[in-house]
Amino acid sequence: MSIDEVRIITEKYLFPNYQREKIVFKKGKGVYLWDDNGKEYLDLLAGIATSSLGHSHPKLSKAISKQAHTLIHTSNLYYIKEQSVLAKLLSENGFGGKVFFCNSGAESVESALKLVKRYFWEKGEQKRKRIVAMDNSFHGRTTGALSITGQKKYQEGFFTIPDVLFIPFGDKETAEEAITEETLAVFVEPVQGEGGVIFPPSDYLKHLRKLCDDTGTLLVFDEVQVGIGRLGTLYAYQRFDVVPDVITLAKGLGGGVPIGATIAKSEIANTFVPGTHASTFGGNPLATTAGKIVVEELLNGLLEHVMKMEKVTKSLLNKLSKEHADKISEIRGMGLMWAVELKIDAREVVKKCLEKGVLVNAVQSHTIRITPPLIIKQKELKKGIEIINSVLSTF
Ligand SMILES: *Cc1c(COP(=O)(O)O)cnc(C)c1O
Repeated sequence: MSIDEVRIITEKYLFPNYQREKIVFKKGKGVYLWDDNGKEYLDLLAGIATSSLGHSHPKLSKAISKQAHTLIHTSNLYYIKEQSVLAKLLSENGFGGKVFFCNSGAESVESALKLVKRYFWEKGEQKRKRIVAMDNSFHGRTTGALSITGQKKYQEGFFTIPDVLFIPFGDKETAEEAITEETLAVFVEPVQGEGGVIFPPSDYLKHLRKLCDDTGTLLVFDEVQVGIGRLGTLYAYQRFDVVPDVITLAKGLGGGVPIGATIAKSEIANTFVPGTHASTFGGNPLATTAGKIVVEELLNGLLEHVMKMEKVTKSLLNKLSKEHADKISEIRGMGLMWAVELKIDAREVVKKCLEKGVLVNAVQSHTIRITPPLIIKQKELKKGIEIINSVLSTF
């Protein structure tokens, strides 16, 4: 099938909800992708911070292919060995607690929303009704997750749940007023991803922790984008030294295989007794095999590698920003999650990068996001940023 045929069939038979580039990728290896015409692309996007081990990672491909030939799915009516192994890894390398597996970021957030509500319902704390969430946040597209997503453009025209109070991300005073003994939980991304790679002031998350402790409120970190090694630690909370009560994960966890997870301190997790919550596919042998390989790779040296690449990226981007001071207003990032803040239209720059064989994307109108596979090497980062440099020179 030619690209045009794929495009015509897609437009005829699929919902028109995605704005797509006219490219069909055929295969990938490491940080490289090739399209239908054989053109090579350096992937600095990783399918939106998802292909954490790059493409066709030998260990990941081998493990899931073996698992696919052995057993893909059985349902949670039975014990699942691979699921138990991954849950143990996630718990023991984090704050302990228990894991619920699902299939996406939105579903992990949805599960966390149900969990915090049910937890206080069970305790008889009926006066707790409110969720505190952040302006400019992103938590996913299902009704619950959408309801706590603080960007108008996503909510417009849809149902939302009541009792959500949005506060400015990073502002301590409003947080103090908002978090009370009537709050169920505070949902926060330690770093806002879709919002534009936005960092809060350095003591902000610690402050939220304290306000939650003082009022008995639960603190939920949405680590769907920043967890699982993206910031150089297995969990983002470890980088900020603030322990939440609940964590949501997805994107990078399966290295591209769909999987989500909600992790909660055991006392909270134990609220979900049989019948309260479920997911048919959740944690099936195939998906949890993928998750196990990703987490093992991270623990076996990849996290240290990300920390090294953070330094490399920082110095390369700082250099870029000096050379294009007229077009770049700020560079910010951590681990392998970076943003280049532009004074020009980011989408135009992204388009030209694509033509020159580098994948990045625009989050917000003036921000380019760089989230390469975590396995990316120094010379590949250098090559990618050199191409971005040559693209910026044309503006
Ligand atoms: C992407 C994202 C989600 C939603 O994940 P899906 O898998 O698309 O449902 C939720 N929260 C954060 C922080 C995200 O970046």
